[in-house]
Amino acid sequence: MIKNMLFGLALVGVLLACATSPTGRSQLVLMPEAQLAQMGFQAFEQIKRKERIEANPAVNAYVRCVADELTYTLGGRWEVAVFQSEQVNAFALPGGKIGVYSGLLKAARNQHQLAAVLGHEIGHVLARHSNERVSQEFAVEQALGLIQALATPQSSSGRLLMGALGLGAQVGVLMPFSRIQETEADVIGLELMARAGFDPREAIRLWHNMGETSRPKPPEWLSTHPSHASRIQEIERHLPRILPLYEAAKARGRRPNCTLGAT
Ligand SMILES: [Zn+2]
Repeated sequence: MIKNMLFGLALVGVLLACATSPTGRSQLVLMPEAQLAQMGFQAFEQIKRKERIEANPAVNAYVRCVADELTYTLGGRWEVAVFQSEQVNAFALPGGKIGVYSGLLKAARNQHQLAAVLGHEIGHVLARHSNERVSQEFAVEQALGLIQALATPQSSSGRLLMGALGLGAQVGVLMPFSRIQETEADVIGLELMARAGFDPREAIRLWHNMGETSRPKPPEWLSTHPSHASRIQEIERHLPRILPLYEAAKARGRRPNCTLGAT
């Protein structure tokens, strides 16, 4: 019995280790996705306890609307929380969790631009970037043990794991996604927004806004991302392939209409 289980685990390990990302890149992902989802769930609970939840129903409804339109084709249930904070920041976690800080709405000035940020963050999740990082940073056995550590996010192991999940800025452990992961999240995000009927060209305006909003010094999480100029170049390179997806979505009647209304 034990032997069978071990064999099963080894097989799962091999299968997962040979995974391929949505853009066709081969990946080392050792952790079972269910464990990552549990880590995401726990980290989300911790942040919800720590941050102030946005009380304005119009802001909540607006963010929810964009997230729903964006994840419509992905299926599953994505939980969204809006935090009242000056931070220009957002994140998505394995297990379908999305967090948005209300300060982001200063830079993401319409539904398309907000969709660009959320698409990017969801792109990190769909491409299993947290799993890659946890696989690189920890032995599997150790990482499974660390799920407990998330119950104490202020402990050093708890903070390290939060960092690996992409929440480094929140706990002061800078662990940037790699350049390859960032570009991959951008490409997946562009496709997602286009297929949902959001204008992918607005992603370029968003990164311009980010540059303006964050002068003189960008927020910590952004300083670990590629420069705005190189990101915009990369987006422009992909637009000829992405724009037809947007036109097709519109032709199918996908025309999201999320508005902030009076706040
Ligand atoms: Zn990113």
